[in-house]
Amino acid sequence: MNIASLLANTARSQGNETAVFHGERPVWTYREMARRAATLAQGLQHRLGVARGDRILLWAGNSPEYVEVIFAAWFAGAVIVPVNVALHPREVASIANDCGARVCFTAIEKVGPLQECAPSQHVPRILPIGDTTLNELRGEELGQADVSSSDTAWVFYTSGTTGRPKGAMLSHQNLLAMTLSYLADVDFLSPQDSFFHLAPQSHAAGLLMLAHVMKGARNVIPDPAGFDPDDVCRLTRTFGSVTSFMSPTMLGRFITASTLDDDVIAQTRTVLCGGAPIYVEDMKRALDVLGPKVWNGYGQGEAPCTISALSKAWLDPSHPDFERRLASVGVARSGVEIAVRAADGSLSRTGSGEIAVRGPVVMSGYWRDEPATRAALREGWLMTGDLGVIDDDGLLTLKGRAKELIISGGSNIYPREVEEVLLRHPAVAEVAVVGVPDPVWGENVVAFVVARAGDEVTASELDELCLSQIARFKRPKEYRFLPGLPKNNAGKVLKRELQAKLRSNADCLAQVQGQVARTVGSHSLE
Ligand code: AMP
Repeated sequence: MNIASLLANTARSQGNETAVFHGERPVWTYREMARRAATLAQGLQHRLGVARGDRILLWAGNSPEYVEVIFAAWFAGAVIVPVNVALHPREVASIANDCGARVCFTAIEKVGPLQECAPSQHVPRILPIGDTTLNELRGEELGQADVSSSDTAWVFYTSGTTGRPKGAMLSHQNLLAMTLSYLADVDFLSPQDSFFHLAPQSHAAGLLMLAHVMKGARNVIPDPAGFDPDDVCRLTRTFGSVTSFMSPTMLGRFITASTLDDDVIAQTRTVLCGGAPIYVEDMKRALDVLGPKVWNGYGQGEAPCTISALSKAWLDPSHPDFERRLASVGVARSGVEIAVRAADGSLSRTGSGEIAVRGPVVMSGYWRDEPATRAALREGWLMTGDLGVIDDDGLLTLKGRAKELIISGGSNIYPREVEEVLLRHPAVAEVAVVGVPDPVWGENVVAFVVARAGDEVTASELDELCLSQIARFKRPKEYRFLPGLPKNNAGKVLKRELQAKLRSNADCLAQVQGQVARTVGSHSLE
């Protein structure tokens, strides 16, 4: 099974439906889109020598051509490697080298910078993703290449927020399992539905597009690309029955957009949210505005978009478990098993520990990285690196990344728990809690806080709040107030950057004063 068959089948059965809109402009029907992908596939094979299993790297912002190149790669039996558009050319070159890309497609203005950084040991063909180049490459229409379901279709480079990016190999059957689970667990889809590509197509928007292609729905790519909440409202009025994926930060901006009105809310079918924690207070705010339309899904590149989810049907505020549900990422997705691994390595269906996942969505391994594969895939289970608790009724609550666990004075502190408490303060907009090395305690808890616009909050108020809600040892020892948190374009807070900020400040002061000291602007509570 070639995952390109999702497009080929829709082109046959619903060929006249519009597949892609750029802003409000219809771009291609499904028949046209399949034809473009199939003719480009021939060009890839015959003009660029792309063979089955070769890697094609995509480094570009969202566009209709992005979708075309993805399907062309699959028609040709190749592997698509979509990388984060926000990466530096040096980082992209290193990924191109790691995966041995034969071709890289990128925006015309990035061809030069990427060429300059491409490592001498591996120089792929670097081409602009524009229409002219794609049209020049086109050949005869190619049937879908014969591939095995277990062949790699997509190499998903992890965001590298906790280390060097690794390429999760997703097979054609992984992508199919993800797509079928969408229809089982989110919504059924039809050509009357619209999917807005708001998040990067290298990530959730590209992956979740597949279910929409399978059912002949409309893919709407905002023009210009990027997330403008008012544009989303305008397009929602135009298209209706809209689903989109938003990071928690985007969701926060959407629900406060000045042009969000009853009409937009009525035409919003589902907001798929995930990729980073959605805190209880934020979820409540979103539900107050949108009603039960937010779907919190937990996944990772290694099990794309499909580990567990809190379905819309579970958002009834009168349910006795409402609060507990909101704090969770729901239950295992259809066909997926979840478990927790205790410190002694044993797996169990309930309890706390590192979340393990098994099922048809789980990657086959990391691209040419045996040690990392062995560490992540153990006895058929994917170790997610996320800490969590599974209740007796199967509800999964995440506690944070294992690498972010803070151990202070020998006690475990889950940053997520402290963050949830700090966000209860009405003047706190965003917060990130990290551990910082401490000679006495091993690690200390530091909270980075962003106040709501026009509001003020003090360290002592936050300390009082913590004292009233959690054990003393979990309270932050220090607060740092920032205008915003550093995030990647998938909406994840870059905690390593925050820790580096603390380290570099501490180093500077240590150099000046001969000792590690607190920095100006922070509030220590010792
Ligand atoms: P990535 O592989 O870049 O998609 O990152 C996946 C990681 O994002 C997961 O391992 C989690 O740590 C985090 N994540 C994804 N979805 C959620 C969610 N709904 N709630 C909390 N964290 C999430």
